[in-house]
Amino acid sequence: MSLEQHYSAILSQLGEDVSREGLLDTPKRAAKAMQYLCKGYNQTLEEVVGDALFTSDNSEMVLVKNIELYSLCEHHMLPFIGKAHVAYMPSGKVLGLSKVARIVDMYARRLQIQENMTREIAEAIQKVTNAAGVAVVIEAQHMCMMMRGVEKQNSSMVTSVMLGQFRSNDATRAEFMGLINR
Ligand SMILES: [Zn+2]
Repeated sequence: MSLEQHYSAILSQLGEDVSREGLLDTPKRAAKAMQYLCKGYNQTLEEVVGDALFTSDNSEMVLVKNIELYSLCEHHMLPFIGKAHVAYMPSGKVLGLSKVARIVDMYARRLQIQENMTREIAEAIQKVTNAAGVAVVIEAQHMCMMMRGVEKQNSSMVTSVMLGQFRSNDATRAEFMGLINR
């Protein structure tokens, strides 16, 4: 069965009349939307980064903050939405800025839990840049908490992963936290 046919079956099971006008193209649209939201499965780190890795003798912190993030939780397939802050300490290589956001997207466009996604992003940046340290903080609101279950509308979840210098050096970590909370 195609994704479209599965969506049609889901609508019927939910009690809908799949032949009514407003729903005629819904299975097709829903299938397309879900494929888009999960397109990260078809991407690799190598493809996303391409040739946007540049030699540099800068060893100061590079920070990209407030990267919009849209993902789906793997437990309910409901959205979680927030922002990611990504920093690294270069050691010879810097990454094109838009690529940091594209790496975040690649991992967000899969079924995820926020904790694992945070680690995957940090390890990907580390792998690509061979940085002396990587920090990733993600704050997000989970629709599975807001629309169902405990229905807590204002709680957000914060996860962080610190690698290398961000883990071992308090001053580096404090500088990062100061910059993202500004
Ligand atoms: Zn969930």
